[in-house]
Amino acid sequence: MSEDCVFCRIVKGELPSETVYEDDDVLAFRDINPQAPVHVLIIPKRHIPSLADVGPDDTELLGRMLQVAKTLAEKLDIAASGYRVVVNCGRDGGQVVFHLHVHLLGGQLLGRLA
Ligand code: AMP
Ligand code: ZN
Repeated sequence: MSEDCVFCRIVKGELPSETVYEDDDVLAFRDINPQAPVHVLIIPKRHIPSLADVGPDDTELLGRMLQVAKTLAEKLDIAASGYRVVVNCGRDGGQVVFHLHVHLLGGQLLGRLA
């Protein structure tokens, strides 16, 4: 846990969030500033700053985060229409919160990135 990390504070219950999924290792909640009708963040409960910090021991955790994204897409009714999962990494990747998270976005046609 990191004292000054906003997502660690959400995990600890010190900050509110609209939780949509939780298990022993993974938490998912609505983004506070949604960029699409459905915008959920899926995070590990353990503090990992970014994708640049994951190692071979984190392979299962990363797979489970993507599995949660897929399951939530079904639960939140965007599976049929389609959705996007995004991991911003580092400054040029646009990462603002340095606690690893997967964005799940959907509910509208999303613009192309490239
Ligand atoms: P990123 O640019 O990938 O680091 O995205 C960070 C995301 O966290 C942004 O979409 C923010 O809107 C979101 N965010 C920041 N603080 C909170 C919060 N307290 N609860 C929910 N989402 C948050
Ligand atoms: Zn953290």
